[in-house]
Amino acid sequence: MAKIAVFPGSFDPITKGHEDIVKRALPLFDQIIVAVGVNSSKKSLFPLKTRIKWIQQTFSDEPKVKVESYEGLTVHFCQNHHAECILRGLRNAADFEFEKSIAQMNRDLVNQVDTVFLMTSPQFAAISSTIVRDIIRNDGDVSKFIPNAIDIHGEV
Ligand code: ADP
Repeated sequence: MAKIAVFPGSFDPITKGHEDIVKRALPLFDQIIVAVGVNSSKKSLFPLKTRIKWIQQTFSDEPKVKVESYEGLTVHFCQNHHAECILRGLRNAADFEFEKSIAQMNRDLVNQVDTVFLMTSPQFAAISSTIVRDIIRNDGDVSKFIPNAIDIHGEV
């Protein structure tokens, strides 16, 4: 049976940190679904369509990566797509504490779905979408922090 992982997030926008996690996870899975969560109470800077397009452009040479959006619980999305793993990245202790609770509660909800964590690569540890958004809002250059394949400034 194919080993499928779901990499859920807001990806507002995708960064080199996200790209690195997916690329490093590719040898572990037959397919990785990058799942863009639609959360009506969380206002995004970039429209869903744009966020999806940038992820597709980032992984255009990688047939094992699919991009989808979803609403509702990540574990239900996993069940609907026959994925047995949720993939997440860890940058620091704060990420760990937060992710630990989510992973444990997700496993309580659906026992078949487990979470796999990859530690950030040191050169990307400081990158967060939140800070990238702040830089964009203040007209700074974020090209160092986002995948080379995308042109964010064309959209802003
Ligand atoms: P969320 O809105 O769920 O926090 P994000 O889009 O911010 O989603 O991040 C999705 C996943 O990518 C999370 O597991 C997050 O920890 C991870 N991630 C974000 N930035 C980095 C980075 N620089 N290095 C490694 N993992 C990262």
